[in-house]
Amino acid sequence: MTKRDYYDVLEVSKSATAEEIKKAYRKQALKYHPDRNPGNKEAEEKFKEAAEAYEVLSDVQKKSRYDQFGHAGLGGAAGGGFGGGMTMEDIFSHFGDIFSDMGFGGFGGFSSRGRSYQQMNKGSNLRIKVKLSLEEIEKGVDKKLKVSKYISCRDCSGTGARDGNAFDTCSTCRGSGQVTRITNTFLGQMSTTQTCPTCNGEGKVITRKCNTCSGEGVIRGEEVISVKIPAGVAEGMQLNVSGKGNAARRGGVNGDLIVVIEEKEHPDLVRDGNDLLYNLYVSVAQAALGAQVEIPTLDGKVKIKIEQGTQPGKILRLRGKGLPEVSSYGKGDLLVNINVWIPKNLSREDRKLLEKLEESENFKPAPNAHERGFFNRMKNYFE
Ligand SMILES: [Zn+2]
Ligand SMILES: [Zn+2]
Repeated sequence: MTKRDYYDVLEVSKSATAEEIKKAYRKQALKYHPDRNPGNKEAEEKFKEAAEAYEVLSDVQKKSRYDQFGHAGLGGAAGGGFGGGMTMEDIFSHFGDIFSDMGFGGFGGFSSRGRSYQQMNKGSNLRIKVKLSLEEIEKGVDKKLKVSKYISCRDCSGTGARDGNAFDTCSTCRGSGQVTRITNTFLGQMSTTQTCPTCNGEGKVITRKCNTCSGEGVIRGEEVISVKIPAGVAEGMQLNVSGKGNAARRGGVNGDLIVVIEEKEHPDLVRDGNDLLYNLYVSVAQAALGAQVEIPTLDGKVKIKIEQGTQPGKILRLRGKGLPEVSSYGKGDLLVNINVWIPKNLSREDRKLLEKLEESENFKPAPNAHERGFFNRMKNYFE
């Protein structure tokens, strides 16, 4: 079966923001949710397809690989996660926070109709915000994040049993984790297999609980997690750190840590996509005579030349002085908008000088309605 384009699946454009992608996924997930479409195989497939699309498009690195190489870019190890073979459990544990917002409850809230396999405990995902300066975004940065979360109990190795070995085989299911019930109906005998209610599918029961964690296998703790944030990320993007979320009760699979990017405001520069904008003021004399002025960039100050007779509103483009694309080679530019500073307070002497200048023919305006850039500046003004 050929895979559908992930953007088509979520019905979003390629330029959709992280927030729009999340919204679109919620819409699809709500429509095809198994609790709304009981026993509908087609809906289940659509539900899985949407989750797979969201898994890729909500992850900065995977999305960028997908944008460049399509489905081929995610093949094998590059996929990182569960790729195509997502089970319902994966979906609910991975995107549990989205479902809990929808009022369906998370993993636990999913009805267990017809489940007949051993249930695996899963830790929940953790979401953490990281605020980055534009300098950090330009270079990419390794962040050490101190995360408060459920960690595996050391005293019982996460098993919940004292010393990690106070277990007995479950007598209800004899260790299989499943029970089969035979019921007599008018059609004859029917057998249904269910998760063992005594051991919750674990196949064993704890005979003496670990004191440290009261048998849960997890305790509250802190972990310092190193996260490699690639250059070029933007506000709202998410990075998925697999297995670094909450530890699961009694030796299950850890949840993921989801790192949400926030941007610190830069004192001088404004971000516009991968470009940076700087609003430069020069004096009347500098604009008329020409000058060398210093402007800030993310790599320190640089000198630029103001040509003699520069009009306010002229824009200089410093190529490659903007921000890089995420996991790609492109780089944005630094755009310098030149403004001319008109003094607001004048001394008697200033006034005399200006009145003298006013007499000169060269200081009379010579407007040009077709001046380059005029239209764009006006447009930006009204937007
Ligand atoms: Zn059992
Ligand atoms: Zn313990």
